[in-house]
Amino acid sequence: MNYPVAPVLPWQQELRHVLRRPEQLAEYLELPLALFSAAAAEEFELRLTRHFAGLMAKGDPDDPLLKQVLASPMELAPSPGYSAEPLAESEHFSPVPGLVHKYHGRVLLLPSSQCAINCRYCFRRHFPYREHQLSRSQWQPALDYIRADGSISEVILSGGDPLSLADKQLAWLSETLAELPQLKRLRVHSRLPVVLPQRVDEDLLGWLNDRRFQTSLVLHINHPNELSAELTAACERLRQNGVRLFNQAVLLKGVNNSAATLAQLSEELFAEHIQPYYLHQLDRVRGAAHFRIADTEAKALYRELRSLLPGYMVPLLTQEIPGEAAKTPLI
Ligand code: SF4
Repeated sequence: MNYPVAPVLPWQQELRHVLRRPEQLAEYLELPLALFSAAAAEEFELRLTRHFAGLMAKGDPDDPLLKQVLASPMELAPSPGYSAEPLAESEHFSPVPGLVHKYHGRVLLLPSSQCAINCRYCFRRHFPYREHQLSRSQWQPALDYIRADGSISEVILSGGDPLSLADKQLAWLSETLAELPQLKRLRVHSRLPVVLPQRVDEDLLGWLNDRRFQTSLVLHINHPNELSAELTAACERLRQNGVRLFNQAVLLKGVNNSAATLAQLSEELFAEHIQPYYLHQLDRVRGAAHFRIADTEAKALYRELRSLLPGYMVPLLTQEIPGEAAKTPLI
């Protein structure tokens, strides 16, 4: 089987043909199907792009990219202290559908429930997206909420992955937001350029390049192997169109819990003009306990990372605590 390689299809078609069945991935990577848990994949669908699969090493069950998408039997082990919504976003911080307001001056909008890849450690893996799916007319309460709070100067399009939506819809949302005079910044949180670099096409650049906003894109790259040539070319196009690039990573056992790996990631991001921004301690979401390392280990690893890099390349190690005014630095 060789479908994770060329020909590369337009991104919309690639999204329709993401890998969803464990046996597809096991066969392509030449790995035993027993690595995958059908029950785990039932609870949270296995989902990844052909591009992301193509970055994995065949025959290696410990590949750091595979581990991020592998529906593992470990997800079903009892994990006291882990919950469906560890950050209580929909329960406590969503005053109107489609909007999450946690911190001063900025709000999240959730325009899409879909991602191109299902990251097994995602803190929104059980998020009730259905309650937040809005048609154009249903966005009005969220827009009114922003308009009524003059302190909000930044909107963050978050996920699901906002770039899984059609550019027509995103352009409409961006133009509608641009009518709110207090907004200065538009930020997009997306993993799509990483897992499907052809998503960065002319239509996307067209609406992102709206000079009304200071625009930034926060990518999500956890391991240096994710930095493909296609991604770096896409980043170059984004930069040329005035988009500032940042990266957030999640500290994940078996994927990037080594100072050398994280230092290499920062070096390679910086070389591509992507600013390392956050390194998140894993949120305690049900099904992801096997990815978490203890705080003491995280702190020791971070101290080592700081000893390897100049300060401007060191992302901030944080933990999110619901109700706090900002993300909490672990050190
Ligand atoms: S929201 Fe981000 S982290 Fe969560 S599954 Fe989608 S791409 Fe992965």
